Amino acid sequence: MASTPTRPAGGRHHVVIVGAGFGGLFAAKRLADADVDVTIIDRTNHHLFQPLLYQVATGVLSSGEIAPTIRQILRKQKNTRVVKAEVREIDVDARTVTGDLGGREVVLQYDSLILAAGAGQSYFGNDHFAEFAPGMKSIDDALEIRARITGAFERAEITTDPEEKRRLLTFVIVGAGPTGVELAGQVAEMAHRTLRNEFRDIDTDSARILLVDGSPQVLPPFGKNLGKKAQKKLEKLGVEVVTDSLVTNVDAEGVTWKSMKTEKETTVGSYCKIWSAGVAASPLGRMVTEQIDGVDADRAGRVPVGDDLTIDGHKEIFVVGDMMSHDRLPGLAQVAIQGGQFVADVIRGEVEEGRTSRPAFSYHDKGTMAIVSRFYAVVKIGDREITGFPGWLMWLAVHMMFLVGFRNRFVAAYSWGLNSLSPNRWNLVATRQQLHGRNILRRLRELEDEQGIRSVMVRDNLKVGEGRDIRPTTD
Ligand SMILES: Cc1cc2nc3c(=O)[nH]c(=O)nc-3n(C[C@H](O)[C@H](O)[C@H](O)COP(=O)(O)OP(=O)(O)OC[C@H]3O[C@@H](n4cnc5c(N)ncnc54)[C@H](O)[C@@H]3O)c2cc1C
Repeated sequence: MASTPTRPAGGRHHVVIVGAGFGGLFAAKRLADADVDVTIIDRTNHHLFQPLLYQVATGVLSSGEIAPTIRQILRKQKNTRVVKAEVREIDVDARTVTGDLGGREVVLQYDSLILAAGAGQSYFGNDHFAEFAPGMKSIDDALEIRARITGAFERAEITTDPEEKRRLLTFVIVGAGPTGVELAGQVAEMAHRTLRNEFRDIDTDSARILLVDGSPQVLPPFGKNLGKKAQKKLEKLGVEVVTDSLVTNVDAEGVTWKSMKTEKETTVGSYCKIWSAGVAASPLGRMVTEQIDGVDADRAGRVPVGDDLTIDGHKEIFVVGDMMSHDRLPGLAQVAIQGGQFVADVIRGEVEEGRTSRPAFSYHDKGTMAIVSRFYAVVKIGDREITGFPGWLMWLAVHMMFLVGFRNRFVAAYSWGLNSLSPNRWNLVATRQQLHGRNILRRLRELEDEQGIRSVMVRDNLKVGEGRDIRPTTD
């Protein structure tokens, strides 16, 4: 049954924000006390600080420390309502957004729409790789990767076949951007420092960590010099860096790549594979552009916007962050934050002061950074390059500033302090659900397609497979 569109009582201008990531949350916060009603809708119940996901995956932080709930963050903001639902439909002409939570539908009518649904992992047309090599975009992904990393060592400990032991102790990370570099550094530290004395039948020091990328260097956006320094540091940590190489296959057994220089194909056996090599904007962008004549999403699904960050001919639809294509701006937290704040100011100015002309968005580059190991980070701010301990201190200061919530900042600082001094990590718990959940859900969806089982039964009540032991094909 179709639901009736809802809007808050009182008849104020209604701003609907899709996504409570960096763009959406900072837009909502900027609208606190504005003379508007705000509804922020997200498929998760938390605001995720994605740049620290790799620390959850490698046991430095726990998930709660980087993902406070959206309701808690906005609890004092009286003009704002939080809706937890996955947006499945946006009707540009009717100005409605339809969300779904386990078969329950909510339809919201907007006066202004802020699209901030971010991006997902892209496997460049090889979506089947995802079964064997999870990306890192969500808490679920980070916990699955943690379970795969720790699971590899556990399996190696009880394996007698030397070749299989070697496969289990080989970790392949695809994509040498900041996430890949940070992960590779952390897996190396786990193998050589954290887990060193914890196993009896394997030498964790012998673990092979490979970082593979199609570019000629690691950290391409940081430039040649910083890329070289980061690579040198990684190699010192025991990471094997493979550049100029395109991954051509990922399966349960391992990874194959082809050198772009020599055309030579190399296959490496590996149990734990991680994908950090590409992003595609939320499909909601394409859903919206398909309804508007003359506007097309780009190849990565990003929506082109004008200087006021709206879609041509639709002054009421703003797009910010990883979903927008504007001025070749990169997919960075600061781009999303500044975009979110800018559009909130535009809406506020028009509703409260009756402004008729719109300013142009101007991005202030605050720099990019990546941590390679304990006490070593690379930072690029305009033409300035900072490396090593000073870079690490800057990284620390920036992450403390932007982590949401005093408690989270306090706990993260405490964890980083402890982690710097001690080889131990206190967040390495891994469960079967974390390891298998994503692939089981994928199998359930396949069953749903093959047998016509209603999605609400699968997703909400998990009727399919209930009580049966469903093993995913990866294990
Ligand atoms: C592992 C990793 C490391 C990173 N490291 C850095 C870094 O060091 N520095 C940096 O500047 N940037 C970094 N980034 C990039 C940065 O996190 C993004 O640019 C930023 O999060 C984009 O903000 P956004 O608001 O556009 O999207 P997001 O922050 O991704 O938020 C999107 C929100 O929309 C919600 N959503 C999506 N689809 C739907 C739907 N259909 N219905 C309802 N809700 C939906 C999601 O649940 C999410 O809450 C990193 C990203 C990742 C994944």
